[in-house]
Amino acid sequence: MDKRGKLYFRYGTMGSAKTALLLTQAYNFEERGLNYLCMKPIIDNRENNNVIRSRIGIERECTWIYQDMNIYEYVKDLYEESLVVKDWILVDEAQFLSAEQIDELARIVDDFGTNVVCYGLRTDFQSHLFEGSRRLFELADTIEEIKSTCACGRKTSINARIDGHGNIVTDGNQVEIGGDDRYIAMCRSCWRNKRLESAERNSLKFQSE
Ligand SMILES: [Zn+2]
Repeated sequence: MDKRGKLYFRYGTMGSAKTALLLTQAYNFEERGLNYLCMKPIIDNRENNNVIRSRIGIERECTWIYQDMNIYEYVKDLYEESLVVKDWILVDEAQFLSAEQIDELARIVDDFGTNVVCYGLRTDFQSHLFEGSRRLFELADTIEEIKSTCACGRKTSINARIDGHGNIVTDGNQVEIGGDDRYIAMCRSCWRNKRLESAERNSLKFQSE
């Protein structure tokens, strides 16, 4: 097959406008008459509108990726039924995919020449790689960082989880459903200082109780 595609990983912290960039890319494909497909892992079963939506108000329909779904088989069936091979597949929240699903995306690139662009977070609230992100770092042809700035002026690299009082949370499940407002992107240095402050506040509170 002559057509060569690429697997891309564009990663950034929370609030780095990843979804807005994905939607802008979709819009550009429409302008240029390229066919594409948007996909997104479903982690919240209460969600029933299959759309990718950004805070700036744009949205596009997407195909849900379920936890046990074989993405390669899904796309292969889709191409065979429609007799159309997509030029591009855009994946939002790719950090939530399994390593196996990233392998399936890579196979879509290699077998069909479709370009697959994955947008996602690098690390979780404890600064560890997500499974999907790890596999993307291992396999992607092109890796790009979407940069954003911490309140102190440095580059953000940490997705800190906060509680209702603004204290940094260090324990809990990797994925917390419906809690997007409980994260603040910050640099590593601020994350350390804020964790120390939070720990101090908690111990003061404990003493006064
Ligand atoms: Zn900072």
